[in-house]
Amino acid sequence: MKFVHPLALACLFTSLVLLITSCSLPLHQTKQNTNKSIEPTVAYTYLKQLVSPTEGIGAREAGTKEEKKTASYIRANFEKFGYRVSEQNFSFNSRKMVGESQNIIAELGDPTKPTIILGAHYDSTAMKSGSMGATDNGAGVAAMLAIAEALADKIPENYNIRFIAFGAEEIGLQGSNYYVVDLLENKKLGNIAAMINFDTIAGGDKVYVHSAHSTPYKRCKSGKYNSEPSIRNALLTASINILGENNKYVIHPDYEGYPEGVTGSWSDHASFSCAGIPIAYVESTNFAINGKHGFDGYSQSTTEQLWTCFDQENSTACDKKAEKNWGNIWHTKYDTLEKLNNIFPGRVEKQLGNNVKVLIELLSDPDKYLPVK
Ligand SMILES: [Zn+2]
Repeated sequence: MKFVHPLALACLFTSLVLLITSCSLPLHQTKQNTNKSIEPTVAYTYLKQLVSPTEGIGAREAGTKEEKKTASYIRANFEKFGYRVSEQNFSFNSRKMVGESQNIIAELGDPTKPTIILGAHYDSTAMKSGSMGATDNGAGVAAMLAIAEALADKIPENYNIRFIAFGAEEIGLQGSNYYVVDLLENKKLGNIAAMINFDTIAGGDKVYVHSAHSTPYKRCKSGKYNSEPSIRNALLTASINILGENNKYVIHPDYEGYPEGVTGSWSDHASFSCAGIPIAYVESTNFAINGKHGFDGYSQSTTEQLWTCFDQENSTACDKKAEKNWGNIWHTKYDTLEKLNNIFPGRVEKQLGNNVKVLIELLSDPDKYLPVK
């Protein structure tokens, strides 16, 4: 027998120990790894079930039976993952219409702990124009479900995580507004540490993370407005760690009316910033386009198919008066999975998967990015 160096024997022994240990990892650890590799497909499957009129629900306008059906679908999924789920019913009476809707709320942890809310509205709009609400906001809900599924066996130590599917956003942020007023009346607003709004998170040219505008939103009634960017910055760092510099969330530069990294009041985050809660808003769009009203993030893409005529050099319409489409996906006939996949092959699924990864990173260990004070 040849001489075997003692170091080699030691190496062999260590490798054996490692092999045995890795085979007997606790179940949740192996499960977590599996989840991380299947998420993009999981979220995309939920998206199809939500927005495809042939394979799923399709349009889901506020107050309709399709909106109600979507609420039941979301509830059933949260329950399947093992969450405590509650339903908050409300009536709304807006300038546009009168009706009934509901918020679906899911959590696992201790609600008296500092709570981070991930919210996404599940109603859609502009069905008459042909919109199925794939970008707005099937994508946000699909990602939220995939995230909830992946986190169902992980309760962070110092935080509680709450998922909320808001109803009737498209007719004046009805669901989120009702939810915040209810928290306020029941003195439960104090332990909400932050709110992350997922609305239109896939489909546009870039995926942004914003904080609330530095100037209080006009819609706010109380004087408690909060625009501090802690949760936005936490998401940005998590996105760098998980997606790298090339795919991280984008903070838009300073534009007239929109200082660096801030956003308007056009979605559910506004209900929370008005109540004094720090927010982050994730949306896919393109702030670098000089749109109908300037650089306001309302044009989602430079892709020529979405313009009557796009002037690439000046990043605006060739003729502002003649322009009809303005690079819009939201609330248009282009907001269907079929059309989006045609125009941007692979984009929606990729952006969806990236968002899921970033949120799993942040919400499985929020202390790492947002230490409890
Ligand atoms: Zn929306």
